[in-house]
Parts: sequence; C-alpha cells; structure tokens
Amino acid sequence: MSEMNISAFLKKKIENFNVAPVEYRLGTVTRVGDGVVRVKGLPERLYGELLEFGGGVFGMAVDLEEDGVGAVLFDNADKVSVGDPVRGTSTVTEAPVGEALLGRVIDPIGRALDGKPLSVEKYMPTERPAPSIIERSPVNRSLETGILAIDSMIPIGRGQRELIIGDRQTGKTTIAIDSIINQKNSGVLCVYCAIGQKASNVAGIIDTLTKAGAMSYTVVVAATASQSPAMQYLAPYCACTVAEGFAATGKDVLIVYDDLSKHAVAYRTMSLLLHRPPGREAFPGDVFYLHSRLLERSACLSEELGGGSITAMPIIETMSGNLSAYIPTNVISITDGQIFLESELFHSGVRPAVNTGLSVSRVGRSAQRNAMKAVSGSLRIELSQYREMAVFARFGSDIDSATKSMLDKGECLVNIFKQGKGCPYSLFDEVALLLAYKSGKLVGTKQNQYAAVTEALLSFLHEKCSAVMNEMNLSGDMTEKQREEIEKSIAEWSYENE
Ligand code: ATP
Ligand code: MG
Repeated sequence: MSEMNISAFLKKKIENFNVAPVEYRLGTVTRVGDGVVRVKGLPERLYGELLEFGGGVFGMAVDLEEDGVGAVLFDNADKVSVGDPVRGTSTVTEAPVGEALLGRVIDPIGRALDGKPLSVEKYMPTERPAPSIIERSPVNRSLETGILAIDSMIPIGRGQRELIIGDRQTGKTTIAIDSIINQKNSGVLCVYCAIGQKASNVAGIIDTLTKAGAMSYTVVVAATASQSPAMQYLAPYCACTVAEGFAATGKDVLIVYDDLSKHAVAYRTMSLLLHRPPGREAFPGDVFYLHSRLLERSACLSEELGGGSITAMPIIETMSGNLSAYIPTNVISITDGQIFLESELFHSGVRPAVNTGLSVSRVGRSAQRNAMKAVSGSLRIELSQYREMAVFARFGSDIDSATKSMLDKGECLVNIFKQGKGCPYSLFDEVALLLAYKSGKLVGTKQNQYAAVTEALLSFLHEKCSAVMNEMNLSGDMTEKQREEIEKSIAEWSYENE
C-alpha cells in the first residue's frame, strides 16, 4: 500500500469510528474496616450487587441507604482505603453452572480453587427464589445413603431436607460423605459445600472423595475459616445455585451444607460489623430467614420442569447435645426430619452414633424402596423396647427367658447397625442383614466378632444369591420367592464353615 493509500484508509476508518459511551455508576468509599465498607453516592444500586473497588477487589452491597450503601468485601480488604472510587457492576453475585463443574473445587464467587482453568458458559444469580407449590411434586423416590441404620429407620427421599445434627466429632461429616460416595451408580450428582472449616479438613474430604472415585460426579464449593465472613455467608447460596443448574436439566442432586452453625456465625459477624441490631444470642433478627430461604430451594420438581430434584443434608453442630439452642431449633423446624448423633453412643463404640429415638424422617417413609419396606417395619419399636428393657435389666440378675431372648435380639440389632466409614451397603446387603437379624441366626455372636461375621455372611450371600442380588439392586423390589431364597441361604450358612 502506498503512503497516500494508507492515509486515505486511516481517514476513512476514523470517520466511521463510533463507540457507544459506557456509563459507569460510581461512588466513593467513606469508611472501611473489618471487611465492611460504607460507600457514598452510587445511584440506582441493587441489593446484592457486585461492587468493584479497583485492584481486583470485589464486594457485595448488603445495606441500601438513602445516600449510599453498606457493603462487605470478599477478600483483599487491606487494599481498599477511604476515598477510593467504587464501581457498580449492575449485576448481582452469580455462580457458574453446568457439567463443566463436575470434579472441580470452586469458591463462592465462582473462581476455581484447584489450580486448573475453569471455562463455563452459563452463570445464574446466587440468590434465587424457591420453586412455588405448583412447580413441585411429592417426594416419592428414595435416596439411599448406604448406611443401614438410616436407610432402614430414617429413610430419605429425593427432594427432602434431612438435617444431620450432633455435637462436635460425632461423625456428622462422615455420614454426609458416605452418602455422597454411595451415589456412585445411582445417577445422583452431588454438591459438597464447606463453610468455615479448616482448609486442611476440606483438603482431607476432597482426598477421601477422590480416592472413592466420587469426584467425577461431585462439585465442592469451599469457603474456609480464614476467608471473610462475606465469602462464608455466600457459600451455601452459591452451592445451591450450582445444584439448581443440574436440577434444571432433570438431574437428581444431593447437596451437603457443612455446616450451617458456622454459616449463622459468619452472618452474625457480618451483621454486627454492619451495625445491625443484635437479637437473641446476638444473632440479627432475620437469621431464621437466612436458612429458610436457602433450604426452601431444595425440592422435587414437577414433570413439566423436568422432574429433577435437590435433596439437602444441612449439618448443625450442637453444644453438649442441646437441641433447644436458637439455631438448632430454627433449622429443625425448617427441615423434614433430623438424624441426631450422640457423643455418648459414639464413644461407646456405636458408630454411626444415631439416636433412633430422637431421629425422624417426616416424608422419607413413603419413598422407601419396597424390598426395604418389607423388612424394616418394626425395627424402631424393637430397638426402643430393647433400650427400655436394657435399663431395667441392669438392676437385677433375675431375668426370665422371654426377656433374655429379647435383650439378646436387641443387642444383635445394635451391633448389625454398627458400620465403618467409607463402606456403604447396597440395597441387597441391607435387606440380607435385616433378614439375618430376623432369623435369629446372628444372636449370640461375640460383640467383637460382628464385623467379621457380617462380612463373611455377606460375601457368602453375594456368591450364593447373585441373581437375586442383581435383580433387587436394580428393581428395588423383593418377591416372596426371592425372600425365601435368601432366608434359605442364611439358614444354610454358618460362620465356622468359612
Ligand atoms: P466436626 O465436629 O469436627 O466437624 P464431625 O461430627 O463432622 O466432626 P467426623 O469428622 O465425621 O465428625 O468424624 C469424627 C471422627 O470419627 C473421624 O476421625 C472419623 O474418622 C471417625 N468416624 C466417624 N464415623 C465413623 C464410623 N462409622 N466408624 C469409624 N470411625 C468413624
Ligand atoms: Mg464435620
């Protein structure tokens, strides 16, 4: 191109150069401290709007006032100072959704934490309304945890919200993680949300999931204890949006919030720093709404919406078994049942330490699979009768033979319910163990031998009844003939022969 041509070309380009003006909505920082800022100006702001402070620092508008906003910072709070400009982004905080997230670890504002690049096409707001009544369908399909005591007595349905509650170190996280591991071939996708835990704990959990081959269908959303209260506050909403992304495509999802006590504490910190008035236990007045709006988003969707579901397992930590504290009572009243774990049981070796008297599932019974329904009907009553009788039996040695046999049977049941971590049972295993209990075959086994005996029995049955096993695990039903076959095999088996 000659010189003349170049200048003509440039002239033409410049003539047609036309950029639309970009309008920035700006404000100024007037106060900053403890991760909370006050901003003056900033017209037309939104509640929950993402604010940009320059230098890659982001925050969220949480208090809308006449002359400005109160906002919380996500990280790098020390980079913001009074007088800094603040830009409104006109979007509320969003979370990434879609299949690309499976196997990944993200933070509550959607950044990858596992060091690999993350490319997602779709984002959805972290705060979304819960499905309405007509958008839901009844809970009638079961979600198996693979934990015998839970599947038989406190069954969980897809779309249910089942609380796991107990003191510290009673196996709460283990139940949730085992349930995730058990979804391996069930087609259920999982989201694990860690709130306010130690980073080393979260790394351990990710390691467990990876080793069990569960990361391929799991997303981890993590806000660790060292992160700002704003991040911890946002984490469960972000995780729920990730789950909703899957549920919208007709998938069943299991979501674990570990744990909501720490979430409430993070929200209390945030509220006190924002000078909101404190109420009971210094929590702000809207702490009930904090959890109710989150847990209402778990639902079984109607056929028109694809029939997906979100099953929630929130976790709450209690102090010395006190269920009547503020946050535990709130969350108990929001959820459809609770699994109550007890330190005393845990330390006496009954693990999982489920207190069956105080645990309930308010909707799961109708969702239980037929094979399990057929063998689990009277277990709760038998167990509570045993516990009552065991207390009396302690006082004297004069026990008639009927009581003695009831005590022996009860003890056998308690021992069958003991289960190590990371080894969930299939439906057939659970049904077979309960049939073995009913037959009385395992009564009289020495306390320390139960683990070996049940393992031997199950491996015998896997071989002997393999056709029944495959059918039952697939269909969830048990015909009279199949039941007879299993019972016959149990009668044939004896531990000494192994
Ligand atoms: P935290 O309050 O610290 O969150 P937690 O209630 O979540 O604790 P876990 O971390 O699940 O409890 O478990 C506490 C310890 O008990 C762990 O070391 C775990 O390995 C062990 N544990 C839990 N369940 C079982 C089990 N069924 N069999 C054997 N050990 C178990
Ligand atoms: Mg835990």
